[in-house]
Amino acid sequence: MGKYKRTLITTALPYANGPLHIGHLAGVYVPADIYARYLRLKNEEVMMIGGSDEHGVPITLKAKNEGITPQDVVDKYHKLIKTSFEQFGISFDVYSRTSAQIHHETASEFFKKLYDEGKFIEKTTEQYFDEENNQFLADRYIMGTCPKCGYEKAYGDQCESCGTSLSPTELIDPKSMISGNTPVLKETRHWYLPLDAYEPWLREWILEGHREWKPNVYGQCKSWIDSGLLPRAVTRDLDWGVPVPIAGAEGKVLYVWFDAPIGYISATRELTPEWKKYWKDPETRMIHFIGKDNIVFHCIIFPCMLKAEGTYNLPDNVPANEFLNLEGEKISTSRNWAVWLHEYLEDLPGKEDVLKYALTANAPETKDNDFTWKDFQTRNNNELVAILGNFVNRALVLTQKYFEGVVPPRRELTEYDKETLDGIAAIKASVEKSLDAFRFREALKYAMDLARLGNKYLADEEPWKGIKTDEERVKTIINICLQVSASLTIVLEPFLPFSMEKLRGFLNVEKMNWDKLGNTDLLKEGHRIHKPSLLFEKIEDPVIEKQLRKLMDTKKSNTMNEEKINPSKEPVSFEDFGTMDIRTATILEAEKVPKTRKLLKLKVDTGIDRRTIVSGIAEYYEPENLIGRQICILVNLEPKKLRGIESQGMILCAEDAGGTLSIVAPDRKMTNGSAVK
Ligand SMILES: [Zn+2]
Repeated sequence: MGKYKRTLITTALPYANGPLHIGHLAGVYVPADIYARYLRLKNEEVMMIGGSDEHGVPITLKAKNEGITPQDVVDKYHKLIKTSFEQFGISFDVYSRTSAQIHHETASEFFKKLYDEGKFIEKTTEQYFDEENNQFLADRYIMGTCPKCGYEKAYGDQCESCGTSLSPTELIDPKSMISGNTPVLKETRHWYLPLDAYEPWLREWILEGHREWKPNVYGQCKSWIDSGLLPRAVTRDLDWGVPVPIAGAEGKVLYVWFDAPIGYISATRELTPEWKKYWKDPETRMIHFIGKDNIVFHCIIFPCMLKAEGTYNLPDNVPANEFLNLEGEKISTSRNWAVWLHEYLEDLPGKEDVLKYALTANAPETKDNDFTWKDFQTRNNNELVAILGNFVNRALVLTQKYFEGVVPPRRELTEYDKETLDGIAAIKASVEKSLDAFRFREALKYAMDLARLGNKYLADEEPWKGIKTDEERVKTIINICLQVSASLTIVLEPFLPFSMEKLRGFLNVEKMNWDKLGNTDLLKEGHRIHKPSLLFEKIEDPVIEKQLRKLMDTKKSNTMNEEKINPSKEPVSFEDFGTMDIRTATILEAEKVPKTRKLLKLKVDTGIDRRTIVSGIAEYYEPENLIGRQICILVNLEPKKLRGIESQGMILCAEDAGGTLSIVAPDRKMTNGSAVK
């Protein structure tokens, strides 16, 4: 890192309207924590900042729906989020929140300075306004009919049916999602940050100056800049947030994307009066840990804000991750498709490190990745238990058994002994290189290579055989295994902090700095170690099956919730209903209509006659299983030609929202031609 004296690590602010899930951990907090712990072990000056993002419309809507205040909403989730972080050992130096007084002050000052220096553009536009709730409506809170496809539930910014992007005024028959009323257009004045004015500077700073950024980050920045930047509103009409600190702006707050990143500054201020050192000293290096959905905010918009302000440092790197999926599907808070951290801790207590390990080993660093419970189990059983746990346990148990828990002396070394001890320094170099480049999964793999090295050495040397014939040689072997074990407490500390604390307890040592790694005398001859217990335990199938069942249940309940039942049609008279001649009938023959996926050709006995009916049920019934079955048919439906076959009537079926068809039939055998009414 050369020219830098210290590092400021910021982590994306989780939005305080729901709990944390594994996607949050994998994308942002685990890599940031590994990096912070690594720098601390190297005795570098480092600060890791976090906090809850507590403003914005979704929180006000949630409050309205639940009949509580926005402050109640953020209090609840801030507490839950903060607790989950603590339990997982995410080592923030400060975890703050944007509803804090200090944040309101910091964000106001920031806005005021830009305003006073003329860095904003002021514009008056017409926006939809909900008169009943006396508020302007964000695009997502207006629903109406799509002008392109006629879908009735299109949002103000997009139709999810045909994918067209829209502006709220294009919607036909717009409705406020808050009151259900028709909104009115009303003039409103806002301030905009002219991002377009910063385009030449952004090109130079990112596209020329930061070619070392991860390809996914650099590529996204380039495509944003190339597609042309527009002025972006920094204020909005809302009663929840940081009030716009100028006269005549009552009822307006800072837009959440503007106030949230300033939260990093506020949190630093909350922690230390020396906060300026971390934000304004050019010898401080700032790293933003974020997920890919935040790249534009941290690489383009926030830097433009900092540049406009003029006295702050810009980020040195933004190692954003891609997304983590769960069992092949996108993690979704609204569909409850997630592994929630607070539930994980209830179901798998004491296994914080196991989850962090699995998430790092499979981190979505260069592409979206998939978390599966099976992979989680395999990582635990085949790697943490079988390699790391097994090696450490054997080394420590043998020390107890042969040498009463005292570190034996090392005698003359074989080539293999030397190679093994030299391996520690080589692994240190590889891990450093990967961590310095933010390649965490690679770093973890190299760190685990030290456990693999120890495991192999122990298995090759077989001290349990030698102890009867050559105790002196066994002393050397055990000494080397113990040095490797002590080295593991350093190299794996950033990744498995709880387990390494436990291992240090077994070895009876204090936490050691990174520079000790490679030293082959970490445990002196004569040092007494403690009796070990298991570092990791096997996770059995029923534990995994329970988690998979939970996900299956979620899937089932989602399917049920997603089925939209159409409202009743207009009333009809009994006479009108009576014009429909519905009869029981029996299927005599059934065959697929060639070259169609859905159609069956049926011959039925209606009691009146025998006739041919073409029915679209081929995806749900095998022809041979239909023969002899009783059904209900509308016999006086006008004949219609389908694929050249005249269909004389219609079989009655129930159809659910997913389009699944089920034949409607009398529940006891009836004479063919019986009236259905
Ligand atoms: Zn549409």
